[in-house]
Amino acid sequence: MAKFIFITGGVVSSLGKGIASASIGALMESHGYRISMIKLDPYINVDPGTMSPFQHGEVYVTTDGAETDLDLGHYERFTNTKILRMNNATSGQIYYSVIQKEREGKYLGKTIQVVPHITDEIKQRITALTKKIDIVICEIGGTVGDIESLPFLEAIRQLYFEHNSDTVFVHLTLVPFIKAAGELKTKPTQHSVASLREIGIQPQILLCRTEKPLSPELKEKIALFCNVRRQAVIEAIDTPYIYEIPLIFHRQNLDKIILELIHLPSHPHPALGKWNNIVNILHNAQEKVCIGVVGKYIKLQDSYKSIYEALVHGGIANHCKVEFSRIDSEQIEKEGVENSLRNVDGVILPGGFGIRGVEGMISAIRYCRENKIPFFGICLGLQCAVIEFARNVCGLCNATSTEFSSDTTEPVICLLDEQKNITKMGGTMRLGAYPCIVEPGSIAYRAYKRKKISERHRHRWEFNMKYFNLMKQHGMKFVGLSPDRKLVEIIEIENHPFFVATQFHPEFQSKPFACHPLFAGFIKAAIHHRAKKQI
Ligand code: GLN
Repeated sequence: MAKFIFITGGVVSSLGKGIASASIGALMESHGYRISMIKLDPYINVDPGTMSPFQHGEVYVTTDGAETDLDLGHYERFTNTKILRMNNATSGQIYYSVIQKEREGKYLGKTIQVVPHITDEIKQRITALTKKIDIVICEIGGTVGDIESLPFLEAIRQLYFEHNSDTVFVHLTLVPFIKAAGELKTKPTQHSVASLREIGIQPQILLCRTEKPLSPELKEKIALFCNVRRQAVIEAIDTPYIYEIPLIFHRQNLDKIILELIHLPSHPHPALGKWNNIVNILHNAQEKVCIGVVGKYIKLQDSYKSIYEALVHGGIANHCKVEFSRIDSEQIEKEGVENSLRNVDGVILPGGFGIRGVEGMISAIRYCRENKIPFFGICLGLQCAVIEFARNVCGLCNATSTEFSSDTTEPVICLLDEQKNITKMGGTMRLGAYPCIVEPGSIAYRAYKRKKISERHRHRWEFNMKYFNLMKQHGMKFVGLSPDRKLVEIIEIENHPFFVATQFHPEFQSKPFACHPLFAGFIKAAIHHRAKKQI
């Protein structure tokens, strides 16, 4: 029988509930348990795929082609569990399937209600994950007190009622430091726990986000007012490295406390060596590089979450600190490319949609190509690299993508065939993992060290094969193709230390202990570039 860990959040959003959940997952694995993780999102969208990155942050794509919440990226990075479509559910999906069943007459004349029909559907999504699993970790999105999350909270309350000693509730909350008073305040935590208790949930563990250490007296006070054991008031102090969080929790016995509460034995020596290793590297790396991240969603840190993490992994793989220079591509259009890219040792251009900011991206690419600065383009990054090369090397001055100009005379990037008749927007891009064949001798091959790879996609447009020969003659190298050779997946250019762009999103497969080979190669190239600059 599987056990359940339920994680809720209080006071404000953005406290790092996803990372806390992923860290708990890592700790459970370190004791030898098989885990599964699920994120339940209270919003009505069926998935985050149709939301603007400014609204939602990154859309994380699973191998089976689901567009999911970015917290699932943390789950995959922190743990060994496989994350698929079934590991994320939204209110939209839950209601959608209940309404579909109602239309099919499956409820035999009953009145369909939030309790029990919606809550049953939620419970079914959670319990579906228990096969061959010891512990299911379930994170509830949003903040306690939101109208939308009530059915989810009611569903986990019912699961607690049914499984009692096999469940534990962990609540993540904020203990703010009030400058004027010079004090940490517990009242928001008390209120948040009170709201949970009102709906029948008594958290047994509190993770308290805080800027400053919690004194024993403060922990005592939180424990008393929130009806939680003192040892179970865990300090979740701000740290510069998210990969330190499993260790911070472990030092406070969070793993043992959870396992006791769900009646599972703790391992006397949990396998945390790999976490200690990477944290050591992060703290002690001597070398440093600065990577320019040029994008259109720069203002929101979460928009390129997996990109930033994969770059950090590249740093770990090369024992090097990675700093970011976040550059809005529209700013390049205004301030000039040299001003914007002066101090960077490499440039990464992540995915995106629509024409805004594209000209700035194209000038950044030209600058990297001409000045031999390591360049890594991802999805839209590949498409812009093709446009730049077509315009400035092949002399096709009108070259662009039909995404930006539907009647262009030089459509070097055009719609994928399968996309031409699509009218519905949600979930209809080329999504999920597809195979690609890498050409021996290329930079990509040297990184992957194998020919057949599989990478995750999320796009509608592609390289237009009509320009294949022309661009090849001018020095563009098509070093990764789909097995039927109809789609371009990776490009490079001649005589450049590292100019690689991919139609797929390698960032989704990178882990702190196993950096994606292209990110490791890119950071290595940036280290070389920096060393050359300093000579
Ligand atoms: N807008 C481009 C497309 O749909 C690129 C997408 C992306 O960068 N993820 O093909």
